[in-house]
Amino acid sequence: MKCREMVELMTDYLEGNLAASERTRFEEHIAGCDGCRAYLEQMRKMVGVLGRLTDDQIPPAVRDQLLDAFRDWKRRAAGP
Ligand SMILES: [Zn+2]
Repeated sequence: MKCREMVELMTDYLEGNLAASERTRFEEHIAGCDGCRAYLEQMRKMVGVLGRLTDDQIPPAVRDQLLDAFRDWKRRAAGP
C-alpha cells in the first residue's frame, strides 16, 4: 500500500469504517512507515477534537485540508 492510499483511508480507519482486510493492510503499513505513523497520530488528535465538536463524521472541507497538509508534508519529506 502506498502512503498516498494510506491518507485516503486514514479517516475511515479512525472512524472504524475499514473492512478487516483493509485494516490489516493499513496497520501493516503503519508498522513499517514512520511518516504515516506520525501523520496518523496527528490526524487522530484532530479527529478527537473534531469529534468532540461535531460528534459526526469529518466534514469534507476539513478532510480536504488534512489531505492538503499531508501533500505538503510529503513534498517536504521528498525534498533535497
Ligand atoms: Zn507511509
